[in-house]
Amino acid sequence: MLSLRPTEQVKARVAVAVMAGKGAAVASRLLGRGGGTALPGLVAERVDGTIVRDLGRQLGRGSVLVTGTNGKTTTSRILARALQEARIASLHNREGSNLMRGIASELIARAGPFGRIPAAAETLGLFETDEATLPAAAASLAPRAIAFTNLFRDQLDRYGEVDTVAALWRDALALTPKDATLVLNADDPSVAELADGWAGPIHWFGLDDPAFATEQVGAVDARWCRTCGGSFAYSRRYFAHAGWWRCTGCGRARAETETTATDIRLELERATFRVSGVGEVTMPLTGLYNVSNALAAVALAKILELPAAAVVAGLAGVRPAFGRQELVELEGRRLRLMLCKNPAGANQVFRLLAAIDPGPGLNVAVLLNDRFADGRDVSWIWDVDYEIVKDRLAACWASGDRVEDMALRLRYAGWPSPEAVKGPAALLDAVLAATHAGNDVFLVPTYTALLDLRAELARRGAVREFWKND
Ligand SMILES: [Zn+2]
Repeated sequence: MLSLRPTEQVKARVAVAVMAGKGAAVASRLLGRGGGTALPGLVAERVDGTIVRDLGRQLGRGSVLVTGTNGKTTTSRILARALQEARIASLHNREGSNLMRGIASELIARAGPFGRIPAAAETLGLFETDEATLPAAAASLAPRAIAFTNLFRDQLDRYGEVDTVAALWRDALALTPKDATLVLNADDPSVAELADGWAGPIHWFGLDDPAFATEQVGAVDARWCRTCGGSFAYSRRYFAHAGWWRCTGCGRARAETETTATDIRLELERATFRVSGVGEVTMPLTGLYNVSNALAAVALAKILELPAAAVVAGLAGVRPAFGRQELVELEGRRLRLMLCKNPAGANQVFRLLAAIDPGPGLNVAVLLNDRFADGRDVSWIWDVDYEIVKDRLAACWASGDRVEDMALRLRYAGWPSPEAVKGPAALLDAVLAATHAGNDVFLVPTYTALLDLRAELARRGAVREFWKND
């Protein structure tokens, strides 16, 4: 009669869960269901409900988490690249797998058949974490640092309000080790309030370049101070509610930053800026929001004591994430795919388009879907400043499942007769008919509209399937 002691039972349970997860990954690939980013974790969690804890706590260098409405993929990718440059072994979940099952899948993929992660003692876990997943991830992984990029309104149907996410994050902090470092965006008052009541270390990051301050309000999600109900005054506003803020009621204000970007120069395909403690850096991503996201990665790199050279190389070597400023060639046109998931993200994209020199004029298509992953409510398009590019357009199109709503919004914004074309095939035909080889075309889709567009581009041989992209 074989009887196992409790620790052996745990080991056996982890081993069975890992094998089940690995089996699911193989089956998923054989069935052509893609990269298997969720299924292995889902299956393993059924066998072992604490699989993330059981595997994640093997990592000798501990774990860091990156969360926020926008930019967590960019931040994670930059840090992953810098870790690679510093020759620090890490494991890193991929975009679209930032729920617990995705984190579990990544750990299972790296574990051996008996549930041991090779070289675990020297390995760091870097986990991009969905906002709502943060409490479970913090409780399971006991992170040494958590970076918060920003908090914007996103996918209303899924999470309700910004306040709901803020409450989830406070729950997560109650479950986080008290000596963990919080990496906070000082420019975002909704993120900054996480410092209240946190007794452990805090590392602040933020932008310091008066040239990018704007008078335009855009979509503002953090209108009221949660401490006193007062309103915010800004000495500089960068985008949405991000900037140099101060509460007019209680006097709470933006903190001094340890990691700061100055002398920012934005171009169509790159951004150059100076970072305190690192020097001048250039990265192949643009937009002020990406500079902010890069700062979150630099702050984490400092906490992990990576050499400055690795940070510089990490920023220089980062590749655009799926769908973000991705360049696709189609019959000589340069299609630039710029995913927008919410009004703040969309405002940043259109601010960038307004800032670059389009030569003879911009070619822009806006694709609006309202499926579950996009958010069913499309009223947010009325919070986006499409107006700021209206005088710079050469050709423009509205597309997606909600093409009529999008076309109406663009006409109202003063866009010159936007052509309404519903599906991605018809859209690409219209784009090809109105442009020439060598032209840039900016395609601004919601999430599922991007998936449809990429499928059509793949059908035309223009891009590979996204999950084979890495
Ligand atoms: Zn206040």
